[in-house]
Amino acid sequence: MNFKELNIIPPIMKALTQAGYTKATEIQHQTIPHILEGRDVIGCAQTGTGKTASFAIPILQLLDSSKHAPEGIRTLILTPTRELAVQIDENFKTYGTFLNLKHLAIFGGVPQGKQVAALNRGVDILIATPGRLLDLVSQGCVRLSHIEILVLDEADRMLDMGFVNDVKKILAKVPPKRQTLFFSATMPNDIRKFAQSILKKPKEISV
Ligand code: AMP
Repeated sequence: MNFKELNIIPPIMKALTQAGYTKATEIQHQTIPHILEGRDVIGCAQTGTGKTASFAIPILQLLDSSKHAPEGIRTLILTPTRELAVQIDENFKTYGTFLNLKHLAIFGGVPQGKQVAALNRGVDILIATPGRLLDLVSQGCVRLSHIEILVLDEADRMLDMGFVNDVKKILAKVPPKRQTLFFSATMPNDIRKFAQSILKKPKEISV
C-alpha cells in the first residue's frame, strides 16, 4: 500500500520520497491508521520489518498536527540498547526532516553533559534507555509529566535484559492519560500480561 493512502501529511510524504520509500511495509500498513486514531497498539514484529517507521511516522504526524503548546517532552520511546536508541533517533531525523520537532537519544556508557545540554534546549521526542533516563529524571534534568505518547520498543529484550523494575519506575512517572505503543519481537504470556496491564483496549497487530 502507498503511504498516500495512509493519509500521511505532505511534509512527511516529501521526506519518505526523499528517502526512497514508496510503499508501506506490512506492519506500517496495519499499524499507522490505528496510531493516527489515537489508539493503543501492541505490535508483534521483528527488526527489519520497518517497525520503527510504523511508530515514528504517525508520532511525527500526531505531534505536528496537535494544537498543544508544548510544555515539555511529549513522546517518550524506551528501548533496551544504545545502538537501538541511535537508530530510532536517525529514523525520526529522516522522516521529520521537513517538520519542526526536536528529537534526542539518551543512553548510558557516555558522559551526561552533552545529553543534559541538549535536554535543556528543549525536546519533543525523547528516545532513551531505561537506566540513563532514570538517572537524569532523578537529577531533575528530565520531566515526564507532559508525555502524551509512550512507546516500549523491543519490550521482550528490555525485560530479558533486566530492565523490568526500571521500566515500572518510569511508567509510574508518566501520565496515565496517554497513548501507549508496545512493540515486541516475541509475545510469550508474561510479556502479553505486562502489555495488557499498561495498555488500554489495544489493537493487536502481528506480522
Ligand atoms: P526496522 O524494522 O525499523 O529496523 O527497519 C528496517 C529497515 O527498513 C530500515 O533500514 C528502514 O530504513 C527500512 N524501511 C522502513 N520502512 C521502509 C519502507 N516503507 N520502504 C523501504 N524501506 C523501509
